[in-house]
Amino acid sequence: TSEPVDPFKQGWLKGVYNEKPVKDVHTRFPPEPNGYLHIGHAKAITVNFGFAKSYGGACNLRFDDTNPTKEEERYFTSIKEMVHWLGFEPHTITHSSDEFDKLYELAEELTRRGKAYVCHCSPAEVKKGRGQLGGEKYGPRTACAHWSRSADENLEELRGMRDGKYKPGEVVLRMKQYLATKPEEYEISEEDSPATKKEKEKLKSLSDNPALWDAAAYRVTKNNHHHRTGDKWRIYPTYEFTHCICDALEGITHSLCTVEFETLRPAYNWLLEELDMKERGSDEKGPMQREYGRLNVEGTILSKRRIMMLVEGTTLGDEPASKGAAEDVTDGVEELTLAEEGEEEPEAPSETAKAVTNGTGRKIPPAVAGWDDPRLFTLVALRRRGVPPGALKKFVLDLGVTKANANTMTHILDASIRTYLERTVPRLMLVLDPIKVTFQNLPDDYLEERDVPFDPKDKAKGTHKVPFTRTIYIDRDDFREEDDPDFFRLSPGQSVGLLNAEFPIKCISFSKDPATGKVSEIAAEYGKEVPAGRARIHWVGESAAHKSPVKAEARIFNPLFKTAKPNELDWKNGGYFDDLNPDSLVTYPNAMIECGFNYIRENAPWPKEEGEADVKVADKSSVRFQGLRTAFFALDADSTEERVVLNRIVSLKEDTGK
Ligand code: ATP
Ligand code: MG
Ligand code: MG
Repeated sequence: TSEPVDPFKQGWLKGVYNEKPVKDVHTRFPPEPNGYLHIGHAKAITVNFGFAKSYGGACNLRFDDTNPTKEEERYFTSIKEMVHWLGFEPHTITHSSDEFDKLYELAEELTRRGKAYVCHCSPAEVKKGRGQLGGEKYGPRTACAHWSRSADENLEELRGMRDGKYKPGEVVLRMKQYLATKPEEYEISEEDSPATKKEKEKLKSLSDNPALWDAAAYRVTKNNHHHRTGDKWRIYPTYEFTHCICDALEGITHSLCTVEFETLRPAYNWLLEELDMKERGSDEKGPMQREYGRLNVEGTILSKRRIMMLVEGTTLGDEPASKGAAEDVTDGVEELTLAEEGEEEPEAPSETAKAVTNGTGRKIPPAVAGWDDPRLFTLVALRRRGVPPGALKKFVLDLGVTKANANTMTHILDASIRTYLERTVPRLMLVLDPIKVTFQNLPDDYLEERDVPFDPKDKAKGTHKVPFTRTIYIDRDDFREEDDPDFFRLSPGQSVGLLNAEFPIKCISFSKDPATGKVSEIAAEYGKEVPAGRARIHWVGESAAHKSPVKAEARIFNPLFKTAKPNELDWKNGGYFDDLNPDSLVTYPNAMIECGFNYIRENAPWPKEEGEADVKVADKSSVRFQGLRTAFFALDADSTEERVVLNRIVSLKEDTGK
């Protein structure tokens, strides 16, 4: 037998390991606790934890909690739960805020070394110094008046910042990087030796990188109460200052992050080198940053701010003009600009949005029931929908981990989940919209116990007993009031086969509910011949002794938006509301499941996922099955002992509409 392929020991990931093939690999997953995780984070979690696991190392869960305004307890709890749900255990749970004292000390040290200065420039002055006042990106740059202050003066100012001398937006501590480098310093001349030329080329590349134009290290925040350090600090370190230092302090060897941080890599190394936490120009000691492509999923919304609009409803003008789409592709950089330049004014609402609010003021109602609404692609929503964690990990790794972004669509994810479920979950008969069928030729107490496999393709899952009785239920879809040569299921005078039963059934007559005009009951005969070419349909028998049927409410989810590209909708002015799919949730309140469901529910998670035997998920969503000819389902969180609610995880085939 061949060894299973370890995806972490192939391709790009293997290359990253080979660049620094240490014995004690140490990685970290560093979420900001400012929102719920989404499917993109499943990639970050899988990459960081999986990499460490494959190379016999450890991975920390680090809460990057340096922005006191946005953090909430519920996000910490949920992030921990999701990492656990995906089958990973953090080596240590750390918080960037644990290091606030140390970080501040290092800020003083950097200042003492003449590598940081307190800057009082306004946003316009900052732009001017960067040569960007006219909107150009790379104009001639000039250092501001504060750049040349003495270390002592800067130290005093920094302490002033710390002690409340300044209001938010008035000052920042800047790292003295390459803002003031002049072109003549790296102009190459004929006489330069090859070594000098190389030096100058390096200087030019650093100097041309906006990430090194004296990025902010500390700022005074508006709301400065921190949930862990309380009112101790008025100033907080930026991502650029914090991340690399925390990596070094935690002994991270491979700092894996997404590609938008690639231009920040020289800044990452610069700070560690200036503080003697990393050797100049070498990755041998200290953490090594490498960047992998993001996972982008089209067909849904992943931006925290936009999901918030869907969950809480929208007060028009909520989404600041400068953000939105940008949020999905930038991170630390955006943070920095925001802190320095303040938020832009929202624009006036559009005509569509005014129409939507329809005189009810400026509020558009919520589009989903919560962050875990199964129509969303947050991890809590995917879990609630019933998506197995193993399916997500497999999806991420099958797309591949390289420098390139992995761009995909929701239906590709669904297809992957479908394939995964196909070979893992048991099969049951479930009727979404039942019609009662009574066999005229069977006695009241007729009972055949059918021995039905949980998975005909996998004998190891075993069998269970399903009662076939005088009364059964079939799906409304499998019946037509008039026979039609193109319809091969049940209709008056016609016979059809039954799955998991020996004999076919024949429809004799049917009756309708006068109130609804819908077929309410079918009279049938059991045990007559089935003509060639007819189908076999699923059914559920009625037997109190077998606790069959199990009654359920089934929820079928469809895309939340009519367009395949909801990111391109008008979010700022509320225009997204017009594109909501009215059929994104279809409920079947009277569904019925055969009694094999009771076994699955009692033994969940059954069967257990590969490699996850020691992970206990006391969670309803792990009760999963394939409803034969219907769809894949999982038990919803709303279920109780008395009430079964099912979520459709995915359809059996693409676009069945069921
Ligand atoms: P959002 O997409 O909501 O802005 P974020 O980037 O702000 O998410 P963080 O908490 O900063 O979320 O992210 C934690 C880690 O997850 C970071 O290393 C980040 O690069 C990674 N990550 C975030 N989104 C994706 C994605 N789409 N694909 C892969 N990794 C991602
Ligand atoms: Mg972030
Ligand atoms: Mg982001």
